[in-house]
Amino acid sequence: TVRVRIAPSPTGNLHIGTARTAVFNWLFARHHGGKFILRIEDTDLERSKPEFTQNIFEGLTWLGLTWDEEPVYQTARMHLYREKIQQLLDRGLAYRAYDTPEELDAMREAQKARNEAPRYDNRHRNLTPEQEAAFLAEGRKPVIRFKIEDDREISWTDLVRGTVTWKGRDLGGDMVIARAAEGQEVGQPLYNFVVVVDDIDMNISHVIRGEDHIGNTPKQILLYEALGATLPEFGHTPLILNQAGAKLSKRDGVTSISDFKEMGYTAEAIANYMTLLGWSPPEPMTEIFTLAEAAEQFSFDRVNKAGAKFDWDKLNWINGQYIHAMPVSEATNLLIPVWKSAGYEFDAERDRAWLEQITALVAPSLARLNEAADMTRYLFQSLDYTDDAKAQMQQDGAATAIQAILDAMPAELTETATQDVIKQVVKEQNLKKGIVMKSLRAALTGALQGPDLVQSWLLLNQKGLDRSRFEQALS
Ligand code: GLU
Repeated sequence: TVRVRIAPSPTGNLHIGTARTAVFNWLFARHHGGKFILRIEDTDLERSKPEFTQNIFEGLTWLGLTWDEEPVYQTARMHLYREKIQQLLDRGLAYRAYDTPEELDAMREAQKARNEAPRYDNRHRNLTPEQEAAFLAEGRKPVIRFKIEDDREISWTDLVRGTVTWKGRDLGGDMVIARAAEGQEVGQPLYNFVVVVDDIDMNISHVIRGEDHIGNTPKQILLYEALGATLPEFGHTPLILNQAGAKLSKRDGVTSISDFKEMGYTAEAIANYMTLLGWSPPEPMTEIFTLAEAAEQFSFDRVNKAGAKFDWDKLNWINGQYIHAMPVSEATNLLIPVWKSAGYEFDAERDRAWLEQITALVAPSLARLNEAADMTRYLFQSLDYTDDAKAQMQQDGAATAIQAILDAMPAELTETATQDVIKQVVKEQNLKKGIVMKSLRAALTGALQGPDLVQSWLLLNQKGLDRSRFEQALS
């Protein structure tokens, strides 16, 4: 049975790269009727924060990436890691190394001078008990190193990259699996070790993670062997790149899922777009799909090896597709927080019908939900005329038109009534229709561009705001 996991470190908000890897894991699990499991890698006590764990939960939930078992926390499992490290020590597969930071620096300097790649030269592999005692007496604190033989060759069939082969000698020498600690204590166990212990213990069948981890996989394979476990399958998903082809970073604008949410992207669009970052749907699927639809078709055959370029235009297009296709009531629910955070005052319940009409008016032209804030400001707040709108009100005929509209306003304004008023004013005042329309827009909205004018007028009329706007324009 398929059991996959996403293993974020709560040292920051849910990162887009992690979320995208989560998407692929989730799709793979759902496709095979397997389990998608969440493991919080919180062993870095200084940088891990509960609010980041919370942000990870919220981000995955928002995207629809529900997990199937209680989340696993690494900090709750320290005893297990220490027990396994002790076993490796007892079996002679790991040992204590007492090098000081200065000695390690000197070793690397010497390697550099010889033009060699930096690596640990395994110098403390075979210390005698007397040598160890002497180091301890000096107050040195040992790390635990796991033995890696130079002449080993490590090979696996990657779900994305096919056969991958590494040589033991390229893995940097015997690797540290636990930090230094006082005396003979086992210090904090490190990433490559705890991941393997957990993946074995949690029965993970497929390790699907970002390509940035590919160099860890050969080390982890050696640990699986040492711990006597069968290997899972490995799949390394392509990195997300910026337009320049470099790894996507904070400098490219946004990196966490909550940022995307704040910018007005919908969960469905982000989940959809992230799936396309590295996976191409088979025919006849289009590029717009739900995660459930993608799960039906998902396989690693269609995951690209090359990095996936992040394309804002494409994301905006996809997001627009979702907003435009959404029922008005659902879109209104998403716009209410946008208007709230813009500081607009309204009563979400009492004004519901009015808000839905505003949604129907602007949703078809939104790429991001947040664009609705500026686009509809004139409906919620008193006007700040643009320069164009001010100039328009100075034009010949503008004031005449507005005064005539004010005089001709019927008690009850309907769509037909607005048309009639406009026609009547054009005729009686002998004005060009363009002047009347432009002045009307300037007076009602404070700008010369914006959503449909007649609808805007009706919306303002419902709130009893149109008369005062005409008066303001004339004053
Ligand atoms: N905590 C690691 C990360 O977030 C997990 C990598 C893995 O999946 O093994 O990159």
